[in-house]
Amino acid sequence: MEFCQIQLNYLDWNFQDAKGKVELLKEWKLPVWVMEPLRGGRLAKLTDDQEAKLLALRPEEKIPAWAFRFLQTIPEVTVVLSGMSDFSQLTENLHTFETEEPLKEQETEALLKIADGLLGGTLPCTACHYCVSHCSQGLEIPKLIALYNEHCFTGGGFLAPMALSAEPQEKQPGACVGCRSCEAVCPQGIKISEAMADFAEKLKG
Ligand code: SF4
Ligand code: SF4
Repeated sequence: MEFCQIQLNYLDWNFQDAKGKVELLKEWKLPVWVMEPLRGGRLAKLTDDQEAKLLALRPEEKIPAWAFRFLQTIPEVTVVLSGMSDFSQLTENLHTFETEEPLKEQETEALLKIADGLLGGTLPCTACHYCVSHCSQGLEIPKLIALYNEHCFTGGGFLAPMALSAEPQEKQPGACVGCRSCEAVCPQGIKISEAMADFAEKLKG
């Protein structure tokens, strides 16, 4: 392999463990090509309050540019692929990439705090795996919760159904029998059985 293309942006840094993927690719000495730098345009527009926080740090920087500056902070990134729908977006992005202006520590912290705010409604699973050995159905709970979070955040995107289409029925959220033995050991107090039931229902469309 000469490079690896992954979904990478400041929202997915922790949410979809893009950070862990970058660390692995660094270990393998593979350059990172980025897709979804703006998360389907979600990071191009923030709330007034969030935008004000960023403007206070860099008054000249446009909001979409913050996502690109975040990527400029990661040395392993060599290519950024961003979809653009009009000429003004193209000129704005060219302007951003005319200079390398990686984020300072304080700026990265502010951006990751905004990411936390955007993910407010998702389940706080840390993928500790404590629950997995307690599941009589052998479900890969943290993986299912990560997909559930993705599915809820995107309001029912294609990623979770696509990922689950490769899994047998007995590994799907619908295989959960609601015994709740996983919940007894979850340090985050996540109502896993409810999430699985809701996920199964959402997947029916
Ligand atoms: S509630 Fe569902 S996910 Fe949790 S242990 Fe029981 S079958 Fe497994
Ligand atoms: S125990 Fe809770 S936090 Fe840990 S992996 Fe399972 S659901 Fe996630």
